[in-house]
Amino acid sequence: MKRNKVLVCIQSVLPRGGVREGLFFLSLLLLSCTANSQTNGSDEDTLTVDTPQVHHLSLLFAGDLMQHGPQIKGALQADGTYDYTECFRYMKQEISEADVAIANFETTLAEKPYTGYPTFSAPDAFLRDCQKAGFDIMLTANNHTCDKGKKGIERTIQMMDSLGMPHLGSYVDEAARQEQYPFLLEKNGFRIVLLNYTYGTNGIPVPKPNIVNPIDTTIMRQDIQAAKAMNPDAIIAFMHWGVEYTIRPIASQVTMADWLLQQGVTHIIGGHPHVVEPIELREDDNGEKHVVAYSLGNFVSNQSQEYTYGGMLVKLELEKDTTTRVADCNYSLYFVTRPAMSGHKQHRVYPVSIPDSLITPAEAKLRNTFINSIRPFFETHNKNVREVMTFDISSFIESETND
Ligand SMILES: [Zn+2]
Repeated sequence: MKRNKVLVCIQSVLPRGGVREGLFFLSLLLLSCTANSQTNGSDEDTLTVDTPQVHHLSLLFAGDLMQHGPQIKGALQADGTYDYTECFRYMKQEISEADVAIANFETTLAEKPYTGYPTFSAPDAFLRDCQKAGFDIMLTANNHTCDKGKKGIERTIQMMDSLGMPHLGSYVDEAARQEQYPFLLEKNGFRIVLLNYTYGTNGIPVPKPNIVNPIDTTIMRQDIQAAKAMNPDAIIAFMHWGVEYTIRPIASQVTMADWLLQQGVTHIIGGHPHVVEPIELREDDNGEKHVVAYSLGNFVSNQSQEYTYGGMLVKLELEKDTTTRVADCNYSLYFVTRPAMSGHKQHRVYPVSIPDSLITPAEAKLRNTFINSIRPFFETHNKNVREVMTFDISSFIESETND
């Protein structure tokens, strides 16, 4: 970060001109982080005042990282290992570019036998390759957290710890939760508190003493109080909520979003419906901006129903000097193709801005179906957030040659 220094000349270090100059002098001191005074022999002294440093932080939010049976099969290599490089190849650049990329890990790492729907257990390579694709933090409170019971919960946490993948949402026990939650992200001079909750765990009771953060206003109120006490620049709540395959938020999501903002949460990022729902940037009475994204959709899955094979990445750019504010918020769309329709070995996630020359006609058709239906819907329902086109062919080719 650059430090901008401003030289300010005043008549004397000690104000002699009365109240007005005194106040001016005082405000200079207050503005300055470090002010050095020099005496140069004349009666004119020089103050070096640092203007507040401007910090920037780019956050990227992705939806559900799913692992259905056909995805696991597609990632199986000839030597018996698993590799998802091909799946993330076209998204890696965009994900890695963000200072911090956060996604919902909606499977468990519970060892073999690897299973898809309805109770997920994925190869450890899936997490490793999510990390290689640029994801920095995983959310683990969702309706599939308990799919493989205690072993699934604990081994997923253990694997994330051993790979150095920070995570939040589920805990081995209360002591671990006390120690690690609310989750504090410290990056680029920012302190961001992250929260994560799920509406349920598909009717599977959370095994004791494990904890999967539930959407419960009593618990969340306490957590938000604890979050505020951490003196954060922003509090972001990741909510696993809503109704599957519904592209409009239901009443309880809208009510809960309002409640979270009232409680002091700054931004809300939702998931679970497996389809995208609208995103808005709200401005409160103080002129502060709050992102509410009801559902990001699947990031990767084997689902093929309308809208489930596409989703959005939300990019939030924060800026901080004496205050923290939203500098920009936008989103990009992507789509997922399955081996059965694309002819490729693996599922692939593509930005919608990928040129036709890099995809098959069947893939281009799928993309067009997605964008032609979701864009008019978003135009009507999104508020103050714009879509950006992200794919850059020259840096893609460059990154391919570097790999
Ligand atoms: Zn879910």
